[in-house]
Amino acid sequence: MQSTNTEFIKAIAEDWLECECRNHPEACGFALTDRDGRNLDNNPELWIERLYRCNQCGLIVDHSTIDLDAQTVRVVGRVAPPFDD
Ligand SMILES: [Zn+2]
Repeated sequence: MQSTNTEFIKAIAEDWLECECRNHPEACGFALTDRDGRNLDNNPELWIERLYRCNQCGLIVDHSTIDLDAQTVRVVGRVAPPFDD
């Protein structure tokens, strides 16, 4: 995982994040991931931290930081496309 200057992206609801690249759940969506940016959608038993990866640009957010009043979720880093899936 690489560092990034982006601190937050928009969280409209628990299940509706909007990335800075304009991706959202009904576009490319988000994958369960880890700090290596691996797609864990098919291996949820390996999903230890509540991290999601934007399937379009690779930004990784920590869903446990979601703030629905502020409509933000904290970005923890990014991985570069192409992805492993
Ligand atoms: Zn994105």
